[in-house]
Amino acid sequence: HISRRNISWIMRRNLSAHVWGILKEAGKIAYGLGFKLYAAGGMIRDVMLGQNSIDIDLVVEGDGIKLATAMSEAFQVKIRKYQQFGTAQVIFSEDLTIDIATARVEFYAYPAALPQVESSSLHQDLYRRDFTINAMAVCLNDKKFGSIVDFFDGRDDLDQGLIRILHNLSFIEDPIRILRAIRFEQRYGFEIEKQTLNFLKEAVRQEVLAKVTPERIWEELKHILVEKEASRMLRRLEELKVWPFIFPGVNYWEVDPVLRDLAGSVDLIKEWGFWVPTEKWLPYLIALLHWSNPETARQICERYHLSKRQTEKALAALYGWRETVAMIWKSPEDVKLSQLAKQLMTMPRESYPMLLAILEEDWIKDRFRQLLNTIMDSKPSINGKYIKSLGYRPGPVFKETLEALWQERLDGNIVNEAEEKDFVRKYLARLTEGAVKC
Ligand code: ATP
Repeated sequence: HISRRNISWIMRRNLSAHVWGILKEAGKIAYGLGFKLYAAGGMIRDVMLGQNSIDIDLVVEGDGIKLATAMSEAFQVKIRKYQQFGTAQVIFSEDLTIDIATARVEFYAYPAALPQVESSSLHQDLYRRDFTINAMAVCLNDKKFGSIVDFFDGRDDLDQGLIRILHNLSFIEDPIRILRAIRFEQRYGFEIEKQTLNFLKEAVRQEVLAKVTPERIWEELKHILVEKEASRMLRRLEELKVWPFIFPGVNYWEVDPVLRDLAGSVDLIKEWGFWVPTEKWLPYLIALLHWSNPETARQICERYHLSKRQTEKALAALYGWRETVAMIWKSPEDVKLSQLAKQLMTMPRESYPMLLAILEEDWIKDRFRQLLNTIMDSKPSINGKYIKSLGYRPGPVFKETLEALWQERLDGNIVNEAEEKDFVRKYLARLTEGAVKC
């Protein structure tokens, strides 16, 4: 029983020694200042699930800014203060930031001695949260270090695998929670609790999501699109009739088969070494827009303020995938490698997983891999530097020349560096001669 009420041993096991040390010390500092300190939210959920958590979210009954300042002095690290909200961030490193929030408290009600019962201010802080599994806290003060505060039976829901809201108006109050419920449900293989599901459906029927700004939706959507189970989440958005509020005009069922295969395809492309993802969400966005008409796709990109470059990638993939797939399917006798390479280069790398998913069968996927390998291996050994050394000024001519060279390499007409240089010199001479003639 005691071990269920105190999870200090689970924390010890699942947190890094560094974070554990910080939490211990933070509890002591808070105690010295006469504050009660808790770790709360997603971190407690993850620790209980046996996962390491990097998001650390502390709630202080007292003065959060004062505590953050004392911590930054003790650990010799920087802080960011948000005075008007009573919140602060203690920045330990690029990967480790601790958020500290103040749970409002009447100071005179809590003299230095810590009261035995959890106060209502912590309750209020936790009550504002989304689901019971995200609304647990753990005390960090010395003697009670590790004891759980679980007003809403989050632990039972965690054991049973249930996503449950804290009150009936939760989805109306903040419709983003609809997306979050789906995300957590699919991430952990949980279920949305029956009543909660009814409230969710009712909120969707009342079109509450139409009132949320695209910026907030996009923030949450990006979280979804980088999750391992992103495809299941997207499917669930469709099932629960949320999809049209998020991707208006996009027909989910047209892209369902490709989405289902996408996570595996992303892994394959990575395994083959062709793409190191920077914007991990982009392959999913590209895939889910590829059947849409260009105007719809453009509007979605605009709605979520995608950059010009990202929008161009989505549209290039949308325009080019049919032709690309058709060419990959052709037998090598019917299509020259250089033609194929040229076509493939019009496609952004973030569309490779989608192409792979469309190709479906293993043997043709393998051909795609060989093709990418050949293209990469044929990359010329000289680059723009060499052209510069010939006295040309950087410009569009560079790209054109290097592309032409790559084509020749692919078709096996050029096999070594000397031939590459020779080709480039002649090609440039011809180009400039043409320009003079014009
Ligand atoms: P993840 O593992 O995806 O980071 P998380 O639960 O840590 O999940 P955050 O978005 O970092 O997610 O939120 C931290 C905590 O803040 C949550 O655990 C939850 O308690 C609370 N929270 C976040 N968003 C909301 C919301 N829209 N409504 C209510 N509470 C929220």
